[in-house]
Amino acid sequence: MGNYLTTQKAFRSLIASARSGNVRQAYIFEGIKGIGKYTTARIFANAIHCTGENKPCGVCPDCKKHIANTHSDLFVVGGGGQIKVEDIRQMNEELYIKPALSSRKICIVRNADNMNNDAQNALLKSFEEPPAYAVIILLSENIKNLLPTIRSRGNKVVFEPFSEKEISEYLLRQYPLKKDAIPFVSLYSGGVIGRATDILENEEFFETRNKMFRAIATLTGDRMSIFKLSEAFGAKGGKGAFENCDLYFDLFASFMRDVLAIKTGARVINQDMSALIEGFCAKVTSSSVLSIIERTAKVRSELNVSMKYELWIVNMLINCWEDINGKGSRS
Ligand SMILES: [Zn+2]
Repeated sequence: MGNYLTTQKAFRSLIASARSGNVRQAYIFEGIKGIGKYTTARIFANAIHCTGENKPCGVCPDCKKHIANTHSDLFVVGGGGQIKVEDIRQMNEELYIKPALSSRKICIVRNADNMNNDAQNALLKSFEEPPAYAVIILLSENIKNLLPTIRSRGNKVVFEPFSEKEISEYLLRQYPLKKDAIPFVSLYSGGVIGRATDILENEEFFETRNKMFRAIATLTGDRMSIFKLSEAFGAKGGKGAFENCDLYFDLFASFMRDVLAIKTGARVINQDMSALIEGFCAKVTSSSVLSIIERTAKVRSELNVSMKYELWIVNMLINCWEDINGKGSRS
């Protein structure tokens, strides 16, 4: 269970606290998407409820319910789009019903960053003064998205990326048939296991990367390139584009990162496409690339499901094009 996580410091310390019975009541798990926050929260909850020896033992009645995803003392909120105040109110109601099977009622809030202000305010009271039997775990990609009052009440657990070696060893065990792609994937994933497995399970990854990189390379040309690139961002795909946008932004960032790597003599990740990246690199300045990296990261962090995806992407790319070609070139 969760074998790749066992080298992760956050995971080990949480399981140790569950085993010693030294569990706090309010946690905030912080780390980027795909790093293992939810998996860890689930195994942690299981270990807390487990009545066996080596928690989580996997065989006691509580463990069996956890594995079947039917344990009634675990409640999970979020995971999709915005978390509304009604979702948190429902969780609060659930929280004040005593645990039925064990001594702990555990609530996990996935993507806690997606709570609007009303939802966070509704959470505040239960997070500050939970019932004695309650454990609340918020999962956040960036705790700056949470109200200061919530931030200050939670025990923060930070999830660090894995080393390239750890990821590559894990992937070789799990995906022996894809061993040719593993050196690249281990490096590209930046230590984020979810990103690595997503690539290996996505048949179209390399085709999507090819399309994205070729479109980026045209940004040094005329303004039509903006529209070509917006297509690579799925901006004409209608629904579904936002759901896939992590992949597009990751690819875009990886290309720009490699441009800077070439400029500074560091290691290029997308080795197999280095000729294309070098061609682009020769035509742009470091400062324009830095500006593009900053700009796209900002848009990425602000984008959400309720916004007009296509509009934001096209706007962002117009600005990127101007970073390279200058505003004066606007025709
Ligand atoms: Zn057990």
